[in-house]
Amino acid sequence: MEPRLPLDAGLLNKALAVPHQPIYLPQCEAAGVRVWLRRDDQLPGGNKYYKLYFNLKAAHEQGKEVLVTFGGPHSNHLHAFALACQQAGFYGRALVRGYPSYADSPTLAEIKKAGLRVEFVGHSEYRRLSQAGAYTGGHHEYVIPEGGANGLGVQGAEYIGHAVEQHFSGGVRHLVMAAGTGSTLGGVARALRHSATQALGISVLKGAASASLWPVNADYGTNWRLLWGFAGKGYARALSPQMLSFWQAFERSNPIAIDPIYTLKMLWGIEQLAAMGYWRRGEQLVAVHTGGLQGRRAFAQRPADATAMQ
Ligand SMILES: *Cc1c(COP(=O)(O)O)cnc(C)c1O
Repeated sequence: MEPRLPLDAGLLNKALAVPHQPIYLPQCEAAGVRVWLRRDDQLPGGNKYYKLYFNLKAAHEQGKEVLVTFGGPHSNHLHAFALACQQAGFYGRALVRGYPSYADSPTLAEIKKAGLRVEFVGHSEYRRLSQAGAYTGGHHEYVIPEGGANGLGVQGAEYIGHAVEQHFSGGVRHLVMAAGTGSTLGGVARALRHSATQALGISVLKGAASASLWPVNADYGTNWRLLWGFAGKGYARALSPQMLSFWQAFERSNPIAIDPIYTLKMLWGIEQLAAMGYWRRGEQLVAVHTGGLQGRRAFAQRPADATAMQ
């Protein structure tokens, strides 16, 4: 086994304090599966909190004064980045995909209020700049890639796995999360390399081909799966009537708000898999609520829309 770094007590304690609550999902109930929702949405920035943690530490250790990152106008990552900069006292620059006409998105208004400098970058220039390593920054700048998807981001995400392992003492068969870049999944997989709990990602992208950022890091071990086919029409696209009424039913039977781009897709996937007999009767699974509620404001559909269509 490779040598392991000692765990960071600060991040581990944060992760251990995150509550797990039982949720009701009808197909899982019928399949005899107990589902716990891990409320990482209660951390500032959801799963991005973990991905930014060691990046901020590194920036501090390297004596950098300015943090730079990339994202779209509704990005959860940018929102989390702004909170983290404000908290840690860094000056932050956000390179935003698109044009100043997006300037009044609720996300961008808030990150400006948090003191970030927002700079718009046209689509093709954005594509070029946001490629890993294309923008290296000035000597006083520390650059974090889109989504916080770098090695230190993966290292932070490991703590979700460590916390679930400690909290449930290995009594959970699957630890499930939505996957965009897959770097959260990668970290969790790494933490669970030698565990009886398997890391399972539900892709929020439409096709395997569109998962261009994955794998970020080849060192995930083998105790994980990434499943496709539960993202409907694709990333941040309109929801089908079925998914919309599932959203409504979920929020009616569980007093928990979820976002339509990530956590809804994950829970939908968990239910479809239950109906297909994927889970073992009697198993416990933990589903991660990765946050994203701030981005929900910009999403046109609402759970209430389902009623109008019935
Ligand atoms: C960014 C994000 C994810 C995806 O995380 P990856 O590490 O990119 O796979 C999942 N859920 C929410 C709410 C997010 O904001």
